[in-house]
Amino acid sequence: MYDALVIGGGPVGSYMARKLSCKGYSVVVIDKGTRENKKVCCTGIISKKCYQSFFHEKDLILKAGKSARVYSPSGKLFDLKHEEDQAYIINRNVLDTVMAGDAIDGGAEYLYGCTVKNIVINKDRARIDYSSSGELISLDTRLVIVASGFGSWRLGDIGIEKPVDYTIGAQIEVYHRDIDGIEIYTGKHSAPGFFGWLVPLDDKKALVGLMAKQTPNKYLQGFLSLLKEQGKIDVNGDTPAYRGITLQPPKRTYGERFIVVGDAAGQVKPITGGGIYFGLICADIAIDIVDKALKDNDLRVVKLSAYEKEWKNKLNNELRICRMARRMYSRLNNRQLDRMFDISKHSGIVDEIITSPDLDFDYHANIIRKAISFPTISKLLLGGIAQ
Ligand SMILES: Cc1cc2nc3c(=O)[nH]c(=O)nc-3n(C[C@H](O)[C@H](O)[C@H](O)COP(=O)(O)OP(=O)(O)OC[C@H]3O[C@@H](n4cnc5c(N)ncnc54)[C@H](O)[C@@H]3O)c2cc1C
Repeated sequence: MYDALVIGGGPVGSYMARKLSCKGYSVVVIDKGTRENKKVCCTGIISKKCYQSFFHEKDLILKAGKSARVYSPSGKLFDLKHEEDQAYIINRNVLDTVMAGDAIDGGAEYLYGCTVKNIVINKDRARIDYSSSGELISLDTRLVIVASGFGSWRLGDIGIEKPVDYTIGAQIEVYHRDIDGIEIYTGKHSAPGFFGWLVPLDDKKALVGLMAKQTPNKYLQGFLSLLKEQGKIDVNGDTPAYRGITLQPPKRTYGERFIVVGDAAGQVKPITGGGIYFGLICADIAIDIVDKALKDNDLRVVKLSAYEKEWKNKLNNELRICRMARRMYSRLNNRQLDRMFDISKHSGIVDEIITSPDLDFDYHANIIRKAISFPTISKLLLGGIAQ
């Protein structure tokens, strides 16, 4: 019997597998995908702080980001520039491979091409059923770590709730023409309620993507046409990839002999959909709790509940404020969004925000509070709600 069985070898699952293996626990990771040549539907933008905390000394950076150009629906521009690098674009396709390699070096076992179908919790163990090459196989473990991203509620009847709020991310690789920084596009026509992005990976390739609750393919095709018309991109034969993004954590992220981490637990920034950093900081919390629980051989609900208490203490307020801001933003029509650009630009709000010490790539609640402290902005946002 394993000490811990991790479902999902994404960044969060592999991070936990490495840390627990290095503490001497027997750990197995089951992933339905392959280890090499993964095509992950993710842009790979992380803060400098995230990179330094979790990926330092790894050769993953494709590009550093100091600036972002944000476009209003009618094409008005905010050119957000910083003196120093704010973020890195990392090679997301190799990240999972590198992190799995580290976990394997630490002693974890990996089973690729295996899909977990069911989890059964018993008094003295948990039993996992997974399918591999058409065969159904069972494994026993003391603890299950659910790190299988969006869709984890489908894993058996252990009570993981389907997210009440989610969106779909759609992304495709293209060739770009001399785009040197990240570009963000707002507006109901390109990504209603969210935004679209054009992110150069190197001198030639870029990622174009967006989030949309419905028909993401339709919006992606429209967005690609717009960028082509503007002479910014050419297609390169890639096909779009799609993935769900949880925007609100499930009510419970633990239970008897299991915890839920990363995207599966909704540890995702509600405004941008970025989940790598929050997933990893919550994994650090989980590792301490799980270590104690395994040592004490006490994997009851009451013991594992400390994990949720701690991670929600850290993030709940942030997530709540960002969800509220995103809902307000999503109610603005194109005209109101344009007006917001005008007001912010001409009243100096953008300059004030960009130089504010509250501006943080990962935590957005403070800057949202600051933005809505400007009466013109709060009036516009409340106007959107009143519509
Ligand atoms: C279009 C798009 C762009 C994004 N861009 C960014 C970004 O720029 N920055 C950022 O921080 N975040 C971004 N994200 C979010 C980011 O990708 C996730 O937050 C991150 O991957 C979460 O990691 P994870 O380990 O929790 O889950 P995942 O990376 O989703 O890993 C889950 C793993 O579980 C496996 N799995 C699933 N079900 C099963 C099963 N039943 N059995 C076995 N294995 C299973 C999968 O194969 C996968 O390897 C983006 C997401 C999307 C959709």
